[in-house]
Amino acid sequence: MSGVEARPTNFIRQIIDNDLAEAKYKTIQTRFPPEPNGYLHIGHAKSICLNFGIAQDYRGKCNLRFDDTNPAKEDVEYVESIKYDVQWLGFKWDGEVRYSSDYFDQLYHYAIELIEKGLAYVDELTPDEIREYRGTLTQPGKNSPYRDRSIDENLSLFNKMKNGDFAEGKACLRAKIDMASPFIVMRDPVLYRIKFASHHQTGDKWCIYPMYDFTHCISDAIENITHSLCTLEFQDNRRLYDWVLDNITISARPHQYEFSRLNLEYAITSKRKLNLLVSEKIVDGWDDPRMPTVSGMRRRGYTPAAIRDFCQRIGVTKQENTVEMSTLEFCVREDLNQNAPRAMAVIDPVKVVIENYSDHLDEVLNMPNHPNRPELGNREVVFTRELFIDRADFREEANKNYKRLVLGKEVRLRNAYVIRADRVEKDENGEITTIYCSYDPATLNKNPEDGRKVKGVIHWVSAKFALPAEIRLYDRLFNTPNPGSADDFLTTINPNSLIIKQGLVEPSLRNSEPAVAYQFEREGYFCLDSKYSSDDKLVFNRTVGLRDSWNE
Ligand code: ATP
Ligand code: MG
Repeated sequence: MSGVEARPTNFIRQIIDNDLAEAKYKTIQTRFPPEPNGYLHIGHAKSICLNFGIAQDYRGKCNLRFDDTNPAKEDVEYVESIKYDVQWLGFKWDGEVRYSSDYFDQLYHYAIELIEKGLAYVDELTPDEIREYRGTLTQPGKNSPYRDRSIDENLSLFNKMKNGDFAEGKACLRAKIDMASPFIVMRDPVLYRIKFASHHQTGDKWCIYPMYDFTHCISDAIENITHSLCTLEFQDNRRLYDWVLDNITISARPHQYEFSRLNLEYAITSKRKLNLLVSEKIVDGWDDPRMPTVSGMRRRGYTPAAIRDFCQRIGVTKQENTVEMSTLEFCVREDLNQNAPRAMAVIDPVKVVIENYSDHLDEVLNMPNHPNRPELGNREVVFTRELFIDRADFREEANKNYKRLVLGKEVRLRNAYVIRADRVEKDENGEITTIYCSYDPATLNKNPEDGRKVKGVIHWVSAKFALPAEIRLYDRLFNTPNPGSADDFLTTINPNSLIIKQGLVEPSLRNSEPAVAYQFEREGYFCLDSKYSSDDKLVFNRTVGLRDSWNE
């Protein structure tokens, strides 16, 4: 990554600066720990930019570790997509990809250590009873009748659990901490549960699986993580994180710090709910361009640089807040305005015939790919007697504020000539089918010689050479800014979030690459769709409009 992205500062970086000033660590080591039960979303991008960004800026290391302790919901498809997305965002993890499941043997031995110290026991209450005994925020919990078993009995029962001698839900291993703790996570939390499920990494080796709180801190310590960064809902769990590490024999001592989750308006950032959108076929897969997933944003034409810029702008704090969608789109627009080549496309075409232009004259015009960046080169676009312009760019009558083509008046065609609309032809419904025009041959990229002023500029494509293209316009996926808070978020879906148009694009776009955005002059940023485009069909996604449309 380039050095143009300025180094951010935030409370976590201040903690690291202090730790380094006190020589607490030689190397800063972070990790990004996704659970492979879905595709990454924009919230994960925030965590990725934070963890990998810190490693980069402090010359430290960042691991990619799959937090894979729940085989029932996990899949290698998710593992692969996550690896791809992290790299696409521009980051490189240290060494091999890691899995919490790599440490299942070690975790098992640490569980035995806790049992031997009298700090863990096998409980045979049912899951419902465990819940009941746990108490509430205002009421302390009750000790399980199995809490005071002997160490030997616990060792033998835990071994039985491991050997598959208990059915699911019939036994679990719990830490022996304090059923009256004001922190519910400390009320004898479950450390291991029985699950007769095949695991995507360990197959059928295990039928007991460690819980997140037990696994995470130990995995961090095994990997020598110095700063373990997670979101605020784990604040209370930090006590358990520290308790486990304080009570087992392990040399490294990572520390957990919490920051606020990213919430984005008009978007869902819960994998469970995103999964529902996919499985209910409300969207067209995890990479639907309306999804706030990394794969959806990629397919839509967002760039890694724009997403990184966004994550930097929103910052890292402990305050819960919701970021406006326009902030994300602003970052996309900033990047694409600088870097996207220009092209012309007409989304709602109406025909123009230039009657004083020869039918045989196909004139090759040279146009810059970018108005301010000559280094991006030029392209050739052929001008012909018959063209298409956008229906919205013509009116039979209009006032002075309308700076496009009006009957009897002139307008400039982008990078070409000035034309005047002389008459129109309509179909039986009164809809305009053709606009007959004349052009001024002396105005190719020049002002008219007699000094008359022509204000507007509109885009066009050649009727003879333009290629048909399906153009997909996206609107917000939800009708409400906070769909996540609705009782049933599926009732807040915007039924018109995808509008499909049949348009025409200049022929140079035949060779465009999926997910690489262009600015279609005056229309917005668009990119070829990776899923529906083929050799005989061009399909473009609107990445983002030219102006903010969220605050209208
Ligand atoms: P979800 O609720 O979508 O399942 P999760 O937190 O369970 O999210 P993980 O795969 O466990 O998903 O997340 C991996 C890392 O990404 C964690 O460290 C988590 O804190 C972080 N993360 C997840 N969602 C967000 C978010 N919205 N904002 C910031 N960080 C997030
Ligand atoms: Mg999680």
